[in-house]
Amino acid sequence: MATGPDLGENLCLRCGLCCDGTLFRDVELQPGDDAAQLRALGLLVPVAGSAASIRRFPQPCAALCPDLKCRVYADRPTRCREFECALFKVVAAKRVELPAALKTIRQTRQQAEKVRRLLRELGDAGERVSLAKRFKRVKRKFDAGEVPDHLDTETAYDRLAELSLAVHELDMRLRTKFHPDPGDG
Ligand code: SF4
Repeated sequence: MATGPDLGENLCLRCGLCCDGTLFRDVELQPGDDAAQLRALGLLVPVAGSAASIRRFPQPCAALCPDLKCRVYADRPTRCREFECALFKVVAAKRVELPAALKTIRQTRQQAEKVRRLLRELGDAGERVSLAKRFKRVKRKFDAGEVPDHLDTETAYDRLAELSLAVHELDMRLRTKFHPDPGDG
């Protein structure tokens, strides 16, 4: 996230959706980013040559604090410095009032929390992965016929239907209010 001082305090620090795995699966390093330094600061940046030449670190970000501050704010990567979501832009341009934007954030965070709850109910406990990846992981298991054994089959499929709808509704809101292509960090 890139923030002016006031909006950073009043908007971004009440949101966190661009760092907590709701909006993006990962963040791509840019030329000039010091991968070794970012790794030393605790970001989960893969070592050079370990994967594709493009290096990305996963979301939820290891530097995101419970109070939604960035622990490495002064040294954060380029994408984080430059990124402004659509909601930030319309508030900065005074096309949307701050209270309305905060309401949007509250509602979206509630939607994301509903997705997390349903993922947990379906046995997906790995919270250090983006919501999109977790949903795919759960779907893959169902597709392979692996229904969670702590639920009866009917309940499991009901929960999956509820989760699919919740993910779809969250995705629509993210696209219309925050970023046209969630997942593309
Ligand atoms: S480095 Fe900071 S700004 Fe960038 S994704 Fe992590 S918590 Fe967010």
